[in-house]
Formats: sequence, structure tokens, C-alpha cells
Amino acid sequence: MVRVSHVHLSGCTGCLISFADTYEKLLDILQMVDLVYAITLADEQTRIIDTEEKLTIERIYPENVDIALVEGSVCLDDPHAVELIKDVRAKTKIVVALGGCAVTGCVTRFSRGGQNPQPTHVAFVPVSEVVPVDFAIPGCPPSTDAIVKFVVAALEGDTDYLEPYAEFVKNKDVSGDDLWKRVISQGLCMGCGSCSASCQVRAIEMFEGKPDVRMELCINCGSCIMQCPRIRMPKAKGILGV
Ligand code: SF4
Ligand code: SF4
Repeated sequence: MVRVSHVHLSGCTGCLISFADTYEKLLDILQMVDLVYAITLADEQTRIIDTEEKLTIERIYPENVDIALVEGSVCLDDPHAVELIKDVRAKTKIVVALGGCAVTGCVTRFSRGGQNPQPTHVAFVPVSEVVPVDFAIPGCPPSTDAIVKFVVAALEGDTDYLEPYAEFVKNKDVSGDDLWKRVISQGLCMGCGSCSASCQVRAIEMFEGKPDVRMELCINCGSCIMQCPRIRMPKAKGILGV
């Protein structure tokens, strides 16, 4: 059985909630994989070391993992996070950056330190700036269907379907500015409003039937690029009834 992990770095857990929102499809997937590490969905990796001096709780990332879904950016001020992602890379065949924070840093990228609730934390970077990443799924969070279809394609080894997600690793141009350059200013927009509906920070408003992007509000999450039907993305395959 394929060994899958979910690794949680600096993020809000929204990507995992989006994945869990698949309900019965999540159950189908869990029957197809061996979930070997996931702080929220499984806890068999937790080891409690009880000595006379102190009680330590450790989580050990397992060996020989096939697919790691990594959520959140890497906090460079947190040695544990940096060590964990290096450990994940060393022990995993396919590392997937799941969601805006893992792919581009998203809203965490705007941290300058000195503010609550993490006053000493300054630098949050995308996973690919610390270790090599194989695939990236932008979005804040990525849609439920996008995650399910990606996981099923990965389990089936459907390289055609996965190819655009490999492209996102190399080309992180997934901001509202990129939507503007790649679609709207090219005259390709058909005014469907999906980009506006998907933007969590309301950086895109529909004006006279076309999107108006306020770049100063954009947090570079990639949701609009993922949702735009004018951006080339893999076609649905009807797997698991999706
Ligand atoms: Fe994300 Fe909105 Fe920026 Fe698009 S415009 S990348 S949806 S924040
Ligand atoms: Fe235009 Fe729809 Fe693409 Fe937004 S999602 S840029 S409205 S085609």
C-alpha cells in the first residue's frame, strides 16, 4: 500500500480542512493508502519518553514514505521546522507543497517579526526554498476537488494529469498580477467571476463584468489562477465520482 504523510508547518490548517471536507471521498482515499504520519488524522508516530527528570513527547517522521503532503511555509527561525522538512525530504519519494503557504509563502511571507503572537519569528519561506519539491498545489486553500484529484492521480501514476502541478514548482507566478498578465490583459477573460469568488482577501472585484485586481491586497496565494478556466489546467477524469 502507498505510504502517505501529511506534514504541518506554518499555516492555518485550512488546507487539511479542505482535504477533510471531501468526507466519503477522504474515506475512499484512506482505504487506498497507509497514512503513516499526520498530526491531526493519525498519531501512531508519537513517542512519550518519561524519565525522572522530564517528560518528552516526540514525533518521529517514518522511513520510506511514498508521498508527503506538506502544508504551510517553513519558518527559518524555527530549527525544528527546518530539521523536519529536511528529514521529510530525505525519507520521502514525492514531496508535494500543498496550498499557498507551502507554494509561495502566501500570507506568512509578509511577516517582518516583532509582532504578536510570534514576536521573534521573522522569515517564512516556501518549502521549495529549503528542499526540492516535486509538485505544488496553489490556493488558499486549494479546493477540495483539486486535492482529491491530485491525490488519486498520484496514486495511479497519471503523469499527464500531474504535469501542470510540476510546472507550478518551477513557475510560482500565481498572484493576482499574474492573472492580470496571463488572462485579463490578453483579452482571454470571459467574465465568469471565479477568480473574484475564490479570493480570500477580496483583492479581485468584478467591475462591468470583468475582474479588477487590487495588487496591493494580493497575498500571492494562487487561488485565482487555480480557479480561472482560461488557465491551462488538467481535465477532470471522473475518478472516485469527482
Ligand atoms: Fe490569491 Fe486573491 Fe492574490 Fe489571486 S488576487 S493570488 S486569489 S490573494
Ligand atoms: Fe476572467 Fe473568470 Fe478567469 Fe476571472 S476566473 S480572469 S473572471 S475567466
